[in-house]
Amino acid sequence: MVYPQAGEKPHAVCIPYPAQGHINPMLKLAKLLHHKGFHITFVNTEHNHKRLLRSQGPHSLDGLPHFRFDMIPDGLPPSDLDSTQDIPSLCASLSEHGLSAFRSLLLKLQEQSQDGVMPPVTCIVSDGAMAFTVDAAEELKIPEVVFWTPSACGMLGYTKYRRLVEDGFTPLKDPTYLSNGYLETTVSWTSGMKSIRLRDFPTFIRTLDHQDIMLNFVIQEVERSSRASAVILNTFDTLEHDVLESLSSVFPHIYTIGPLQLLADQIQDEALRSVGGNLWREEPGCLPWLDSKEPGSVVYVNFGSITVMTTSQLTEFAWGLANSQKPFLWIIRPDLVASESAVLPPEFVEEIAGQGMLVSWCQQEEVLKHGAIGGFLTHSGWNSTLESLCGGVPVICWPFFAEQQTNCRYSCTEWGIGMEIDNDVKRDEVEGLVRELMEGEKGKEMRKKAMEWKAKAEAAIMPGGTSYNNVDKLISEVLSSID
Ligand code: UDP
Repeated sequence: MVYPQAGEKPHAVCIPYPAQGHINPMLKLAKLLHHKGFHITFVNTEHNHKRLLRSQGPHSLDGLPHFRFDMIPDGLPPSDLDSTQDIPSLCASLSEHGLSAFRSLLLKLQEQSQDGVMPPVTCIVSDGAMAFTVDAAEELKIPEVVFWTPSACGMLGYTKYRRLVEDGFTPLKDPTYLSNGYLETTVSWTSGMKSIRLRDFPTFIRTLDHQDIMLNFVIQEVERSSRASAVILNTFDTLEHDVLESLSSVFPHIYTIGPLQLLADQIQDEALRSVGGNLWREEPGCLPWLDSKEPGSVVYVNFGSITVMTTSQLTEFAWGLANSQKPFLWIIRPDLVASESAVLPPEFVEEIAGQGMLVSWCQQEEVLKHGAIGGFLTHSGWNSTLESLCGGVPVICWPFFAEQQTNCRYSCTEWGIGMEIDNDVKRDEVEGLVRELMEGEKGKEMRKKAMEWKAKAEAAIMPGGTSYNNVDKLISEVLSSID
């Protein structure tokens, strides 16, 4: 279905949380809405707007007809650093300054529409972690849908935070609770999540502080989201059926519209497809390098846009990969190592010549679709997990924070596509798991499972599939002001 069927275009203001893993899925959704006939205003923070101009080129945000970019301040001191801003500071700042900045933007857009520059704003599509937008939407009487970019299982974990606080599970009594086995405690009352342990919950419960920014931020954003007209998730029904059923008691109007990557792949318009959202400049050369490799032979290693590790963890991963003797493509962001630049031991770089390729940022979706990739060592970010699944690629999980622990748990125990690596990573374990992933029986089973999920994901986005139908339902029931 394409809108408008008559009259003026509906106008969606799409506002992601200012981090890569949120911008990517929101941009896909915005493209999909544009493709369906919407006028789009895509709102980045000023900080990320500048970063995108640097990484994508000076004209990258000029937009297309009916697809324009705008920005709001994030309230933090200006910085030219090419790395993800500190997440708790960003959350605190947006909580304080986001509403007034967003309200001003909406009022400006209203004025511009009165001047005939653009159609009036008819709906807001906001990241769930930017739920101050719900207040602005209510004030200005504009319908809003909230897009939570985590998995449904991660999201369900977040909705349990208030109860976890009330029942005394968090904040933790003292620091020993992080390592004394307490996190292995199973929580019995979490419907939709079988045998879930505290350590499988999104990590912001691992705090000692009642005033903890992230714990309270999540509780607040979940509660605000329940006031939105609808909640959307980048997942598909068959993957997270039980979890989704439980979530629908918290958010009655829930739409699964994933994998958005596959829906966006159906867009033919090249100009629209090429609107990029990578905050880091992509290094060329990965795909030709992969072309030279045997099918299913390469381990892909990438820990996303936020994960940081110690030099010692980096070194253990490095030698584990080298010792596995499998070809590997490893993406090492310049800021991957906490408070220093990521430098590998020179003897490692010598050792892996011919075996591995090291780059700082790649087009991950394209990499995961490449036939040479046989497995993915990942931090279990939701986009990475879903992109891996869309490529039929099994995973080794080294979750870092947020709902990555929940994604790891589901990848390993529910979906059968993953194996977890100990947080205290050691080279022998890396080597062993990589070999198992690439040539072991478990690896074969996981690959088979990943291929099955890939087929189910593809079914969900085809005409008649759940996600395909939900996009049209979402537009006609909530987002479009046209009857
Ligand atoms: N990504 C990419 N190239 C890279 C690293 C990451 O394109 O070298 C993209 C990746 O495809 C995904 C997003 O960045 O869409 C990372 O999101 P995810 O939820 O996996 O993790 P986060 O960065 O939020 O921890």
